Amino acid sequence: MIVEKIKRLAAEKKAVILAHYYQEAAIQDVADYVGDSLALARWAASTDAEAIVLCGVHFMAETAKILSPNKRVFLPDLAADCSLADSCQPTEFAAFVKRHPDHTVISYVNTSAAIKTMTDVVVTSSNARQIVDSFPPDARLIFAPDRNLGNYINSVTGRKMVLWEGACHVHERFSLEKILALKGDFPNALVLAHPECKSVILKVADYIGSTSALLNYATKSESQEFIVATESGILHEMQEKNPDKSFIPAPPNDSTCACNECSFMKLNTLEKLYDCLKNETPEIFLDTATITAAAKPILRMLELSNKLGL
Ligand code: SF4
Repeated sequence: MIVEKIKRLAAEKKAVILAHYYQEAAIQDVADYVGDSLALARWAASTDAEAIVLCGVHFMAETAKILSPNKRVFLPDLAADCSLADSCQPTEFAAFVKRHPDHTVISYVNTSAAIKTMTDVVVTSSNARQIVDSFPPDARLIFAPDRNLGNYINSVTGRKMVLWEGACHVHERFSLEKILALKGDFPNALVLAHPECKSVILKVADYIGSTSALLNYATKSESQEFIVATESGILHEMQEKNPDKSFIPAPPNDSTCACNECSFMKLNTLEKLYDCLKNETPEIFLDTATITAAAKPILRMLELSNKLGL
């Protein structure tokens, strides 16, 4: 059985397997830890394993390498990119920052290591609002790369952060019409939405939060039915934690498929995870200067999160 082989190889090689909630269910089941970007960063920074296999996308594996530079970090499929991270390229972003002197640069963790080297503090969707709020009300802030998350934080904090015009292809394509139709079919269902969704979707949401916040909310809620507007991989953990509740994936607008999957996240498979452990490749490499510069804003985020009790 491939699952046993993966576990045996990971033990032999003293490797920890970290998986994001958007990974396929079989990978979440075999992983040592499953979590959102903030949790993955914390585990990567604190693990005493000799190697990390990051089952997620490229920027997550880079973040693990930046936080644990002396450990080997592997990503089962090196092509597992992120459309949001790709929407913010270093040359254009450097020019954007230059056009806004005296601004503090806040970047979502969904960015390449190169963008993090130009950043003052990194955030995830679990801590973005609180970290933005930790700056003085009149602070001049740049927020990159997700315009939807930036717009959402501007709307709830009253800020006027300058936004980079990036977006995630998964969260941008939820269909308002299809969600409203589902609400008609399931009138008692609560709509849970990730802040990377467009504002028209957030307006009909009963609760807005990061992946782990949506999971916690659904677990604590007395409601029995939920329409979930984020990558559909999270439904696995929601259902595991709440076997008696119903979770309905919010559909995208451009497909006959009922759920919305991140094609990059789903590039990782059990077979690729096994091959990665066996052959010790693909591995993430970053030069020392990049690691040193990119570590600063990530460590600042972890310090602020701890200080704010997040
Ligand atoms: S769901 Fe969107 S933000 Fe998350 S990894 Fe996929 S493309 Fe990137």
